[in-house]
Amino acid sequence: MGKITKYLNQLTVGNVFDSPEIIEKYSADQSALRVKPKFVAFPESTDDIRKLLKFFNQLASKDIKVAVTARGTGLGEGGAALTNGVVISTEKLNHLLEIDSRERLVRVQSGITLHELNTALSVSGLTIPIDGCNERTIGGLISENFKGQCSKKYGGLYAYVERIEVVLTNGECLQTERLKKYALAKRAAEKTTEGEIYRKTVKLVKENSDLIDKLSKNNKDQSGYPMLAQAPRRETMDLMPLFFGAEGTLGIISEVILRAVPIKKRPERVVATFKEVEDALNYAKAIEPLKPRKLDLFDLKIIMEARESGKNLDGVIKKLEDGFVVFANFDERPATCIKKIKAMRDKFSHSARFIYESVNDRPTLNEFENALENYLGYVKNGERVPILTNFYLPNENISNFLQDLTILEKKLNLKVELYGSIGSSIYNLRPKFNLEDKEFNKRATMFLRAGAFIINRQGGKLAGGTPEGRLKAVVTNTEMLEPEKKMYTKLKEIFDSNDILSPDIKLGTSSKFTLTHFRSENRTSVVV
Ligand SMILES: Cc1cc2nc3c(=O)[nH]c(=O)nc-3n(C[C@H](O)[C@H](O)[C@H](O)COP(=O)(O)OP(=O)(O)OC[C@H]3O[C@@H](n4cnc5c(N)ncnc54)[C@H](O)[C@@H]3O)c2cc1C
Repeated sequence: MGKITKYLNQLTVGNVFDSPEIIEKYSADQSALRVKPKFVAFPESTDDIRKLLKFFNQLASKDIKVAVTARGTGLGEGGAALTNGVVISTEKLNHLLEIDSRERLVRVQSGITLHELNTALSVSGLTIPIDGCNERTIGGLISENFKGQCSKKYGGLYAYVERIEVVLTNGECLQTERLKKYALAKRAAEKTTEGEIYRKTVKLVKENSDLIDKLSKNNKDQSGYPMLAQAPRRETMDLMPLFFGAEGTLGIISEVILRAVPIKKRPERVVATFKEVEDALNYAKAIEPLKPRKLDLFDLKIIMEARESGKNLDGVIKKLEDGFVVFANFDERPATCIKKIKAMRDKFSHSARFIYESVNDRPTLNEFENALENYLGYVKNGERVPILTNFYLPNENISNFLQDLTILEKKLNLKVELYGSIGSSIYNLRPKFNLEDKEFNKRATMFLRAGAFIINRQGGKLAGGTPEGRLKAVVTNTEMLEPEKKMYTKLKEIFDSNDILSPDIKLGTSSKFTLTHFRSENRTSVVV
């Protein structure tokens, strides 16, 4: 154990490690990248985080810079939870601190997962209605500005967070709240770190009001600090929105207060299969007024591959080889919704097939959902590494996008299938790569750049679903205009003047570093 590790272990109640096994484990997240940290810390309290940040910030003041990166479950797909410095894991900070059932408010530590939180809330008949991210932490979800498949109906996580507590780089804590004009002026006049942050943020927002206005109209892009426009509101200011999508670059979130909602009934589902994508999209458009909780689209080939996991999906696939599947679920008057879809049946293609929620078809629908969740949520042997995931694509351009995709498939000799959420217009492409291939870096880079090109061409945004992290930043940093870059750089400086919090993600990304840090699995041994 090195000297610094020993010192940090004396300094904090939680443990700090530098052993090869732990370093190896925290070198990867769900992304296509691998970066080795020097230390991994497991704080047991907010006080531990404060001491760790203060220590590394003081080192940076003496020109010894060690990057500090917060980490939740490590399920981010953009490599933002990776660092060659110190990882501060929130694994041990997973406690529910208070529930006020009457006000529907809950206070938690940032390392609690959504599943743990919703399980605890369910006892009071409450929930946080976001889907598809059960194992991820609330701190990670805020930092990625998580929206999820049911965001069209329920909004993203932002809609449910009231306040957060953040540890700043100098070890002080900031508790966010919306400050009215008088309180804001008073706070900004204080000669404290917090006062300085308010003062400088108010000034930055004023100086860039036109740009912020313009950016808020194109709210499809999550790069930079995507919720900045929500911070000022009619002479008031709340710093909380700045942390949504900040990917841990402004401070480490330690506690969160959320407002829950009553649990809805168990949703009822409809799976419809179409030969042509246009028919699938027309159907989706027709049922959108019924306000489905989820409305997802899958290339049928993905379902055929998911079948290999052993689940019986024949009920959905039947004899089809090509086509598209639309999955919808309804949590409001579901029986009426299903009746209405049945009544509309003649409007849709005759070759379409429907499976409705019923006692007989429930097992098929369950297997369909489980198989897909397992298949898509799991990077099988590392081969389906996420490179182009969670991008925005206007639904009306999907057909054109698929034509471009066919050309890209031929050019790169890859099989690429589209899937995602029609409800939120966020889609994914996750082709199989051979990680042992010496050409993997080159092929993955080409796929990232060419894919980003066709996404743009069809009016999409590469960082539309999740912020740019380390991987998407390779493309988004070249696209972002100078005034926007300047504004975000200034904002980062306000919170982190020594630039220790994940300095090499977002605008600090080096394309060369990222593109040479693709995972290599067994390739290292092949090269050796
Ligand atoms: C299968 C799959 C599907 C997904 N689908 C969607 C989707 O539909 N929509 C969407 O928006 N996203 C989606 N994501 C991405 C998702 O938003 C992230 O995976 C998730 O937010 C990460 O949570 P985590 O706890 O694993 O965080 P990590 O991966 O550990 O960290 C993610 C980022 O948050 C920072 N961070 C973590 N904790 C803190 C903290 N306490 N304080 C400050 N910073 C912190 C990290 O530094 C890092 O930058 C998907 C991911 C997967 C694997």
